Amino acid sequence: MVDTLPRDWRRSGRFAPSPTGPLHAGSLVAALASWLDTRASGGRWLVRIEDVDRPRCIPGADHHILAQLAACGLRPDAPPVWQSTRGAAYAEALDRLRQAGLAYPCGCSRRDITLALAAQGAAHQRFDDLVYPGTCRDGLHGKSARAIRLRSVVDGAEVVIDWCDRRLGAQRQNLAREVGDFVLLRADGLWAYQLAVVVDDAAQGITDVVRGEDLADNTARQIHLQRTLGLARPRYLHTPLVRGADGHKLSKQNGAQALDLSDPLAALAAAARVLGLPAIAAATTGDWLAQAVGAWPPRWHDAAPVEPR
Ligand code: GLU
Repeated sequence: MVDTLPRDWRRSGRFAPSPTGPLHAGSLVAALASWLDTRASGGRWLVRIEDVDRPRCIPGADHHILAQLAACGLRPDAPPVWQSTRGAAYAEALDRLRQAGLAYPCGCSRRDITLALAAQGAAHQRFDDLVYPGTCRDGLHGKSARAIRLRSVVDGAEVVIDWCDRRLGAQRQNLAREVGDFVLLRADGLWAYQLAVVVDDAAQGITDVVRGEDLADNTARQIHLQRTLGLARPRYLHTPLVRGADGHKLSKQNGAQALDLSDPLAALAAAARVLGLPAIAAATTGDWLAQAVGAWPPRWHDAAPVEPR
């Protein structure tokens, strides 16, 4: 697909916010980094509104985010794409995986999974997820299908993904042991982030995924999906996080304020500090951004997590 794009679009980056609230200082870092990375390579920059998790979306947050980006001078090179319009593409991908025997229906509730893990003497949990013990891999055992999962053991071998992050370096994840077979279509009928993001990165011809470090752990799952669907693997760069006063990643849950865009230059300067870019003196956002492109890529070892203003 990339080869059919105009020459200066050989590289494409994207910012993919979930419209669960307005941009905050942390999300601007990811947006700015992907914009700078794309501009520095002469590529095109796209925005995708990741609104598959409908219950978590806030009405109007999508347009608010686009206006916040525009106030910072970050305008996409093509109209944004909303994932809520992309169900047919996700269904087609899921169908291919099921036909190939790589995805299967699962009838387990969270309680079933907890009990199965306890029976194995294991309490595998990473973040909020339980490592799926594979109960329905060989059939539903009389239960009704709730979700669809992707296999993390293929042809008898555990899937191990090696990948290299442009900032974090070499990474490895044994999907079978650390994640288990993961959900593509949720029990509530919603598409899972992993499937939607992989199908859309490919459809938009994304060559460079630049996003916050909190998402790095998803990358192995996404690479496994790209392989099983026969899609190209983009390059990955995970940016430093902005930490709240409690030391955790800044998020709406720990009180991240919506960006104060009464002074977009100050907001851009704060994001640039997180990225380890040198201070830039400019009168307009356009001038500031042009200079920042010249300073990209930053020397990552200079970038320390900082607290928001
Ligand atoms: N929609 C995701 C988020 O806002 C980002 C997905 C991505 O960049 O891959 O956290």
